[in-house]
Amino acid sequence: MDCIFCQIAAGKIPSVKVYEDEEVLAFLDIRPISDGHTLVVPKRHFGTLDECDPDILANLVCRLQTIAKAVQQAAGSEGYNILCNNGRAAGQIVDHVHFHIIPRNPGDGVLKKWDHYEYPEGKAEKLAEKIRQKL
Ligand code: AMP
Ligand code: ZN
Repeated sequence: MDCIFCQIAAGKIPSVKVYEDEEVLAFLDIRPISDGHTLVVPKRHFGTLDECDPDILANLVCRLQTIAKAVQQAAGSEGYNILCNNGRAAGQIVDHVHFHIIPRNPGDGVLKKWDHYEYPEGKAEKLAEKIRQKL
């Protein structure tokens, strides 16, 4: 298995761990974008969020809540972002589903602003209907 996060979960390559149980592992990102930047992963391999087993995901999100609070307190940050990149187009580099916990402070310049825009008349309703049909 050449997946780097599977190798970390198996203890085959080193990581700076902050939390571990039977299903979930959390460790510091090797190239942080803010101090305390942490990754939370299932130990089992799933490529993306939509491929992840729902029970494993539910448990992981419960752990994510606790770990995020601890990361925020330890980093002394005012807030944090949770980020989950899915697919190359979304910036996913490691194809093992993971959640970033990114401590944030006002004016820190981390994760630059999003370029928001407005939908033209009728487009939001059409998109919403398409989404509902897929659910
Ligand atoms: P993503 O772009 O969402 O796939 O992010 C992957 C993240 O994994 C990046 O922020 C990397 O810095 C991080 N990363 C890659 N290899 C390692 C590693 N060996 N230990 C810890 N973090 C890693
Ligand atoms: Zn993996």
